[in-house]
This record gives sequence, structure tokens and C-alpha cells, in this order.
Amino acid sequence: MGMRSQNQTGKKIARERIEILLLRARDLYHTEPEQSRRCVAIARKISTRQRVRIPRELRRLFCRKCSGILIPGHSGRVRLHHGKITTTCLACGKQKRIPVVRTHRK
Ligand SMILES: [Zn+2]
Repeated sequence: MGMRSQNQTGKKIARERIEILLLRARDLYHTEPEQSRRCVAIARKISTRQRVRIPRELRRLFCRKCSGILIPGHSGRVRLHHGKITTTCLACGKQKRIPVVRTHRK
């Protein structure tokens, strides 16, 4: 029990750190691109080590291949095609496709 709750707390902290790092990476993109890339790399390392999944909305902020921040119109090209959003990283050319999910909410 003790071990398990400790592990859960660790994951919660890891998730918070990942979020902070990725948001900082986005903010630093324009002024300090290298620092920005490093923040993404650290966030991904935490995610792997703690086995914490990066939330979907944060995952689309960066390129999985080169860890660069993807900003539509700057470092990323975004196309909507056949119900999928295709994002192309302009730094390394990696493409990723995200299906457009329609949420039914009232
Ligand atoms: Zn890339």
C-alpha cells in the first residue's frame, strides 16, 4: 500500500513536471530554440522513466523525431485532409496524423 501510493505521487509529480517543461518549451521556442528543445527532451525522458503518458494535447506540441516544438505557420505545417490533421515538422520533415475526434457534448 505504502509503495503504491508513493508511486502514484511520483507519477503525479512527473506529469506536472512534463506539463511545465512542455509549456516552457513552447514559450522559449522563439527566443531560445536550443533551450526549448532541451525542455522537450527532458519532458520525454521523464515520461519514459516514470512511465507516464504525455497527455494528447501536449503531445501535439512537439515533434516525436527531433523534439522540436511544432508551431503551425512557423515550425510546423498543418493540413486537414480526409478527416485527419497532418502536421509536418519543418525541421526534420516528420509527419504525424491526428484523427479529428468529434466530441458529442451538450
Ligand atoms: Zn522534427
